[in-house]
Amino acid sequence: MWIGIDDTDSAQGGCTTYVATEVIKELSNKFDLIGFPRLVRLNPNIPWKTRGNGAIALHFGHGYGKKFEIGHIGKKIYAYEKGINKFEDVSEELEKIIHARAFLEDEKTNPAFVICRKKPSYSFYKKAVRSIVTIEEAKMETKNCIYKAYKNGRGIIGSVAAISWKPYDRTYELITYARKKWVDEESVIKMDKECKSCFDNYDYENKYIAIMPHANSPVLYGIRGEDADELKKAMGIVISSQIERWIIFETNQATDEHLQKKKIKDVKPYESVIVKGIVKKEPHVIKGGHVIFSIYDGNEIECAAYEPTKRFRNIIKKLRKGDVVVVYGGVRKKPLTINIEKIKIEKLAKVYEKMENPICPKCGKHMKSMGRGKGYRCPKCGIKAGEDKARYEIVERGIKPGFYEVPVVARRHLAKPLKRMKLS
Ligand SMILES: [Zn+2]
Repeated sequence: MWIGIDDTDSAQGGCTTYVATEVIKELSNKFDLIGFPRLVRLNPNIPWKTRGNGAIALHFGHGYGKKFEIGHIGKKIYAYEKGINKFEDVSEELEKIIHARAFLEDEKTNPAFVICRKKPSYSFYKKAVRSIVTIEEAKMETKNCIYKAYKNGRGIIGSVAAISWKPYDRTYELITYARKKWVDEESVIKMDKECKSCFDNYDYENKYIAIMPHANSPVLYGIRGEDADELKKAMGIVISSQIERWIIFETNQATDEHLQKKKIKDVKPYESVIVKGIVKKEPHVIKGGHVIFSIYDGNEIECAAYEPTKRFRNIIKKLRKGDVVVVYGGVRKKPLTINIEKIKIEKLAKVYEKMENPICPKCGKHMKSMGRGKGYRCPKCGIKAGEDKARYEIVERGIKPGFYEVPVVARRHLAKPLKRMKLS
């Protein structure tokens, strides 16, 4: 059976992954875990969800084949490569855990769990990671399932979507939990340098430990990587306060599965898009330090590198009218803006700068401009010359075509780092 859980945490605390460890602890006495527990990130632009928007899927049954250690929750936790499905109504156990661990009093926390015999359709996941789905649509997928949705019932969406994910592309995250929160910065840097398949651990530019959560979380740290075994090695390198439990999740993080290629006229709020266009309005800085420009493909849309993207903004500021770019990012509703996660500069426009006004053929003096686009005129002789008669030089742009991404500190869970795109 598949168990899906969503929306148990709140800004005040908790973490749905912690609830997952409680479920694993409880149910591993009766069942085997088949495959890794899954942490599935869904549409990051949904305004009523926390930034993380992550849900959990667990596959329980009777395991066989290769057995591997995936965590420690009071005892060693194993998962099996393969398994025979077993179905049982474990809703009583799940309810108990949710009542104890979910932040039900928070208005924005609307938990749910689903117990399914088989996986719902993959297309449901695709819709939930890329756009907005309704509670009714989620319920359509839960025929023959046992579920419980608390409060406004929204948690059912993530619960079903997490189960319906198929790991065509995947990464792993090893999450540790502790009461006391302390991590040695130097050891994180050491781990980052030694464990080549791990990523987004440390932001060297902003001196930021990216493996630690923001606040009010039972999580001590989470290390991301391509290889589950190397994550265990990485945990061994990081020096921290006493770890109470740890577990490795298989995830859709860093896969870009939230993105879809679109024409500007088809871009909708709360989606995440890949849009190709020509720079129309040149970058300008607005209040708060955000950098805004627009691109055009027959229609026009604004793009933004917000202040938290730090030095990434310096790249964006160098864009000029006529540059051909592909923008990757989430769409904000008002004003309709693409919040850039990464950008590919395909072609830089030739930008000319005027070095000198034309010289009068009669008196040899410099002519004067008659206003923007109106040509030149000699103040002495009255002879006129066109705009093109001035002397121009090509401007050194200071950027090169290629991919640029926001720093680790501003990275979204689903955004695929360039390191994973095998570009370098
Ligand atoms: Zn003259």
